[in-house]
Amino acid sequence: MASRNSFHIPEAYEPLLAKVDRPGRYAGGEVNVVIKDPSRLRATIALAFPDLYDLGMSYHGFRILYEMINAREDFAAERVFTPWPDFARELRAASLPLTTLETFRPLSAVEIIGFTLQHELCYTNVLETLDLAGIPVRAADRHGAFPLVIAGGEGAYSPEPMADFIDAFVLGDGEEIVFEALEAAARAREHSTPRETFLRRLAAIPGVYVPSLYEVAYNADGTIASVRPVDETIPAAIHPRVYDISKSPGSVRPVVPLIRTVQDRTVVEIRRGCVHGCRFCHAGMITRPVRERPVEQVLDIVRQSLASTGDSEVSLLSLSTADYTEILPLLRRLNAELSERRISISLPSLRISTFDVALAAEVSRVRRSGFTFAPEAGSERLRRVINKPVDEAEFLDIIESVLRAGWKTIKMYFMIGLPGETDEDLDGIVRIAAQALARAKSIGVHSLTLNITLSLFVPKPHTPFQWEGQIAREEVRRRLSYVRDRLPRRGVELKLSPLEAGILEAVFARGDRRLGAVIEHAWRAGCRFDGWREAFRPDVWSEAFTACGLDPDWYSARKRGKDEKLPYDHLEAAPGRRYLEQQRDLAAEGQVTPDCVENPCGGCDACAKPKEHVLARSRSQDLAAGEAASVPAPVPARAAAAGKRGKTPQTEPPPPVMRVRLRFTKTDALRFIAHLDLAEAIHRIVRRSGAPVAHTQGFNPLPRIALSPPLPLGFEGLGEVADVFLLKRVDLRTWLGELRAISAPKGLEWTGIEEIPLKAPSVQQAVTSFRYRLCWRELGSGTEFVPRVLPVDGAEVAAGIKRFLDSASWPIEIERKGRTQQRDARQFVLSCEGIPPPDGFPAAVEMTIRSQEGTTLNPITILGTMFGGDASAGVYLRAARFPVEA
Ligand code: SF4
Repeated sequence: MASRNSFHIPEAYEPLLAKVDRPGRYAGGEVNVVIKDPSRLRATIALAFPDLYDLGMSYHGFRILYEMINAREDFAAERVFTPWPDFARELRAASLPLTTLETFRPLSAVEIIGFTLQHELCYTNVLETLDLAGIPVRAADRHGAFPLVIAGGEGAYSPEPMADFIDAFVLGDGEEIVFEALEAAARAREHSTPRETFLRRLAAIPGVYVPSLYEVAYNADGTIASVRPVDETIPAAIHPRVYDISKSPGSVRPVVPLIRTVQDRTVVEIRRGCVHGCRFCHAGMITRPVRERPVEQVLDIVRQSLASTGDSEVSLLSLSTADYTEILPLLRRLNAELSERRISISLPSLRISTFDVALAAEVSRVRRSGFTFAPEAGSERLRRVINKPVDEAEFLDIIESVLRAGWKTIKMYFMIGLPGETDEDLDGIVRIAAQALARAKSIGVHSLTLNITLSLFVPKPHTPFQWEGQIAREEVRRRLSYVRDRLPRRGVELKLSPLEAGILEAVFARGDRRLGAVIEHAWRAGCRFDGWREAFRPDVWSEAFTACGLDPDWYSARKRGKDEKLPYDHLEAAPGRRYLEQQRDLAAEGQVTPDCVENPCGGCDACAKPKEHVLARSRSQDLAAGEAASVPAPVPARAAAAGKRGKTPQTEPPPPVMRVRLRFTKTDALRFIAHLDLAEAIHRIVRRSGAPVAHTQGFNPLPRIALSPPLPLGFEGLGEVADVFLLKRVDLRTWLGELRAISAPKGLEWTGIEEIPLKAPSVQQAVTSFRYRLCWRELGSGTEFVPRVLPVDGAEVAAGIKRFLDSASWPIEIERKGRTQQRDARQFVLSCEGIPPPDGFPAAVEMTIRSQEGTTLNPITILGTMFGGDASAGVYLRAARFPVEA
């Protein structure tokens, strides 16, 4: 039922892609994408990430749901991301709707749009995404024909600010509830169920909150008086869903992005849930109890995922990776399988209290990036208040071990404005930084860089600090300056998160329904991508609050009374209110509550009966004894230092014995990705083929693969070349067959293979010119009118070419690395002539342009100068390139 080739970027969108930054974000066609025929489905959900493709493609929850849903014959999951303002502008100018990336259907054509609300600063992007799809942003304005708009993720636990825009929120883990929602949508479609009835049916699904079926009343002072269901058939309280992640493998065949994204790696969620109980941490409170995957399942997922993606890094995901009860055995087994293949392992989140130097040694075997620690508070006293006890002396020992193991960059995260914070706590931040640098010096490491990030404390819902207020702006500024002025100047790089964004986060984190008007006002006034420093517009937000008669400080800075009804109290997340109140009181006393995996149950009510954790340890105890002999010995902490100042011995990489020249095409979606992204796509396929590729030396070894010179974005490449250096000889015909059998991005086809001498000239030297075929036609209606420069009459085209060829020189200006340079285009063009155009195009030319060591000219630039302007103006232009070797 699934097919890969039946859907292409609609032609009307192609000219738009040529005008925007990183068009690969919108081109689809990636490896592992699942495309189904919509006419044979009962329901489709568009998984919508209200941020850029580059971020959303790294979000693990998205990957899990995409694969689980697409495994069902009758349902489909497609993807949509909020376009960056450049593409949004082009879509609006051309009156084209936002589409999904699989079938390029308008977003309005699916049954459900499911947004992930990862944080509070993505809310305007939800409205932007709906509007670009031609869907009314307010739920009340959406009638039966429009898709159901649902939202999950952390934001769903405090949903009231978005209540006007979302039809239904889903609370907790999405793995099961998404199928119940799809089933309900399919039945509603099959029976033409009225929207109101459909919403009532959804409200009966455990974990679903339909805000339009609840009425909110306010007290005279603006606080919440009540949130009540409209009648007794609607549940008064909603409980989040909890899923045991070991019941399914999650993601083993993730879509491989065509462009570099935030996390280009295989991600395995090894553990869900955290029970350390940091009192500021929303995720740590709402994801209880702990659920771990068995070691064997993790290994199996890693193998499958690497085979399907060609990734070169594996990341073990958890809120606190080192807490995984079998972490060391797992790492050793992974290293035993992966280090020879130059595949590295990363642990994205390590708590200082559970840090083990042996872990550092295990993850350092292939690559070293920076190490990140989050002490959050500067003093031991304040760390006890937030329930994140870290012994400072131990912390410094850990830093020393990390430095001895070879790391040179350490990141530390601290919060400013935590409840009860004093200047002494701020002095603690300065002290830790100074002592870390001194410790580095004492062991001969003079190049340590400490990246310190200070962010504003945000009181989060469903945490013991949910009743707290943020400190006043002036006081935040004073405290930030206090720390900045005292930190050591050398060796520390300080980053401050934007103050106004932190305040806005606090407003929405515990906000009520009235804030919907502010969000809509700010969006209509141009706010989008508020989580992006360069896009955030605090002045516009300030105007929006004023226009709606609301005071942001009332939401962010006001301490809530013990008896105040909170806007999300009807969403009964675990831990419950009683436990949160207890923890709030213990915080005031500076008392620590230990985790409940290694210690007794703390009574938070997340488990139906105490300690319902699902742990890998209990499952793998039997396995451990039998496997001990086959697992490499642990690397002792200091041994990882290899004697001298954190340097591991570097061995010369073995020399290649064979050089293979592969030929391939770059067409379809692949036309819209940049050269470096193409290189990554080629590396992945070669890795997946298992070919013994030679690597460069150093901490970050790269495969020795050289590509032909970059193609301009949007051009087809019909004779591209990749030279691959191999450590062992391969049979060319067999290898080509293997490469062809591996799924590749849409538009990449292997067309040839040959062995060339190891010392043959580089691809850049071998290619002496490029032959181009260009054809064009006027842009169709519905597109913004731009005057055309290129003629569409064959005689006019021929006359322009003749003028050019008859000239002894043809000076042009080109932009290179931000500077204008002069070139003689006539000296570069070896031939140029009109050719019979392909179907649907009135004009076409073929042009051969010289290339010297990679220096050449773009044929569109030359064509433009022949006819006096921008050649792409007002036309739909297609270009294909054929490299010509000497
Ligand atoms: S109920 Fe007890 S064991 Fe379960 S998560 Fe809460 S504190 Fe831990």
